Amino acid sequence: MTEQFDHFIGGRWTKPAEGRYFDSVNPATLDVLYSAARGTQNDVDKAIDAASDAFRNPSWRDLSQTKRGHLLRRLADLIGENAETLARSESLDNGKLLREMRGQMAGLPEYLYYYAGLSDKIQGDQIPASSPAILNYTTREPLGVVGAITPWNSPLTLTVSKLAPALAAGNTIVVKPSEHTSAAILRLAELASEAGFPDGVVNVVTGYGAEAGAALADHPGIAKISFTGSTQTGAAIASSAASRFIGCTLELGGKSPNIVFDDANVSNAAMGVIAGVFAAAGQTCIAGSRVFAHKAVYDELLERVKERAESIVIGNPVDDDTELGPLAFEAQRDKVKDYVKVGVDEGADVLTGGRRPDVDLPGYFYSPTVLTGVSNSMRVAQEEIFGPVAAIMPFETEDELVGLANDTQYGLAAGVWTNNLSRAHRVASRLEAGTIWVNTYRAMSPMSPREGFKSSGMGVEHGVEAIKEYTRVKSVWINTDEGPV
Ligand code: NAD
Repeated sequence: MTEQFDHFIGGRWTKPAEGRYFDSVNPATLDVLYSAARGTQNDVDKAIDAASDAFRNPSWRDLSQTKRGHLLRRLADLIGENAETLARSESLDNGKLLREMRGQMAGLPEYLYYYAGLSDKIQGDQIPASSPAILNYTTREPLGVVGAITPWNSPLTLTVSKLAPALAAGNTIVVKPSEHTSAAILRLAELASEAGFPDGVVNVVTGYGAEAGAALADHPGIAKISFTGSTQTGAAIASSAASRFIGCTLELGGKSPNIVFDDANVSNAAMGVIAGVFAAAGQTCIAGSRVFAHKAVYDELLERVKERAESIVIGNPVDDDTELGPLAFEAQRDKVKDYVKVGVDEGADVLTGGRRPDVDLPGYFYSPTVLTGVSNSMRVAQEEIFGPVAAIMPFETEDELVGLANDTQYGLAAGVWTNNLSRAHRVASRLEAGTIWVNTYRAMSPMSPREGFKSSGMGVEHGVEAIKEYTRVKSVWINTDEGPV
């Protein structure tokens, strides 16, 4: 019998109000892994009530900031102790390489340690006043109940990126994970309970976006919504938040340029291009899916990328030698297939890939694909495919390149491959993207702020700055004189 998960609300497993469940499927084997509660408005109401009560409960409200940090550290330790199970759970659910998920789990405690360290450094200021009789100071307060909605591609990392600063700042949280990856997030909530967070501080309602997700995003009981997912869903969430004047942090889609200059180490650049767009089968927001190569190195880069793309070992993501797993679910695979067809109809050539690889498993596999003959105005160069598809385009001058790279609605990240130091700084400053990598790609750390420019987001995750997203400032004025001032 398939394992069945309920919601995690108020510190306990809670059956869905309507008694319905949905299946989660292994995208490599198509086996049903488990079923999870299909959340609706009533479940979200219950979770918000639990989180609101916990926010006001002295066991959380009056806990010292230092002790909040201790709880986060304890949770980090528990994640470390359960890293293998968590990595396996994510890999089975979303088809990403077990090896990669192990790497992510090894780094995940660092996010919690980082915000644990910040929790007792959240403080206000004393503000200069116009009269010595006036004392004006600020405090930084938690907001209340935070709603967090997360995608399936890196479920735990993207959830912890919200949960850690939110809890460090004294908020409570209701998480709605992607319907494709519920299990690991439920386990995270259970571990938070084991770590000693009071009941109701961390709650998880599982289910579909249009049901549980929309009910959470539109709920009058949340003080803030923090969302990672597609730009389209983000726009709906932002307008709902704006109508209620609540804070909103959005980490959205991308169509990031990965740029190879003629003075680059082309061998390193080719590896960076491959890792940038084929890692996780291209299902990363930061995928370097628009590759711009200087015409002097264009042919060499194409050859290197093609050769490596064709030698990538495709298979079951839990096998040690697999380098590329399946796409996460059927609709995602169909979307990738359709986009390659769109590209070909627009005049692109398929240099390699563009088909189902020979894999002895029934899952949603798709070959690493390179498109040439693409112009930056084509749909395959402008729209997020979220699959292992790279469009490689030539350029001649730096000015032309900057124009092309910035000619997109997105602004999440960019890669620059060059051995010219001046050019590296110059181009980094001219690119309209929140993260720029030079001679590397995909580096990330809890210490380094991440902001999506343009349609790639709003607000900051990671780093000290993320704390501001989960606090508000209160200004207190005190007349210290006996008489009126
Ligand atoms: P998605 O927008 O379809 O879903 C994301 C989450 O939102 C899921 O939990 C889903 O159930 C929920 N949702 C869907 N419709 C909703 C609605 N109407 N109201 C409320 N919630 C709703 O995105 P996805 O397919 O899960 O994830 C892929 C997208 O996420 C890509 O566009 C990718 O670029 C983006 N992403 C961005 C970052 C980043 O840091 N910028 C990181 C990872 C993924």
